[in-house]
Amino acid sequence: MIVVMNIDSNIEEITTVKERLESMGFQNQIIHGVKKIVIGAVGDPLTNNALKELAEMPGVEKIVPIMKPFKLVSREAQEEGSIIEVGDLRIGGQNLVVIAGPCAVESREQIMTAAQAAKNAGANMIRGGAFKPRTSPYSFQGLEEEGLELLKEASLATGLPTVTEVIDDHSLHLARKYVDMLQVGARNMQNFRLLKAVGQTDKPVLLKRGMSATIEEWLMAAEYIMSEGNQKVILCERGIRTFETYTRNTLDLSAVPVVKKLSHLPIIVDPSHGTGDRQLVGPMSMAAIAAGADGLILEMHPNPAKAMSDGAQSLTPEGLNKLMQQLQALAPVVQRSMSMSGGVN
Ligand code: PEP
Ligand code: MN
Repeated sequence: MIVVMNIDSNIEEITTVKERLESMGFQNQIIHGVKKIVIGAVGDPLTNNALKELAEMPGVEKIVPIMKPFKLVSREAQEEGSIIEVGDLRIGGQNLVVIAGPCAVESREQIMTAAQAAKNAGANMIRGGAFKPRTSPYSFQGLEEEGLELLKEASLATGLPTVTEVIDDHSLHLARKYVDMLQVGARNMQNFRLLKAVGQTDKPVLLKRGMSATIEEWLMAAEYIMSEGNQKVILCERGIRTFETYTRNTLDLSAVPVVKKLSHLPIIVDPSHGTGDRQLVGPMSMAAIAAGADGLILEMHPNPAKAMSDGAQSLTPEGLNKLMQQLQALAPVVQRSMSMSGGVN
């Protein structure tokens, strides 16, 4: 259930309610919404008398029982959409965010060129993998800590925040020193120990949908992170596996309005992994924003033909420029705005 506190409730009242919930055997979590503070409480259902006692405590506005298996993630827990801050950037809300960069950090020259191109095109954040979970053990696995150092350098040079994927405790331990947002990839969406570990950090987490995960399983994965105390979760639809072979995955854009209905968390879309084909990235980016996504994560490489991974789905810098202009034209049509980073540094 969710205990919604009065808009003018004070710290003492909130703490007293929290302690009472604990003594009733509830695991609980304070959620600071934009407008209100609510306490998410998970435990056995209460008797009517106990519910009445809680509802009458000072500072309590109402008690909302939640039937869904995901509690903290649910829109019942928080009516207004969450806005997650990554440095100066706000993900969720009115503004659209675009994250761009290569699949993997390959060299200083590659990531510096890509980061500058991302900034010049107006992207708000840089991506780049340093630990790559590849299907083949013989494929490039990422530059690891050196890759993180280079990503940090690119961030300092452009002033843009960064996101990178973590795959285990070791990569998490390293990445949290260098980047602004942690990514949990599709292959690790149900790696529950990793979800708990990122949930114990204070970094925003980009949680990709598993390639065969239902929306409910995906939201339960987000619940794992939030139940550890980290409220800064951003969901990312990146395509699911179907019988179709003309695309790498089937980008499930219906997940966007479904998630918006079920959850207060921001959701962005990855049309690069979602389609596997750079020619499809533009149309699906536009469709994702039209469907209500809060932003996009796009693979872009200075020279896709030479990319060590995912070249076929990577935009060129020119391709990204063109797409950013199209997105800028679309944004006001769907009542959104875009703050383009822009400008040659
Ligand atoms: C990636 O972002 O490079 C990646 C591996 O994505 P996913 O986990 O969605 O396959
Ligand atoms: Mn990739």
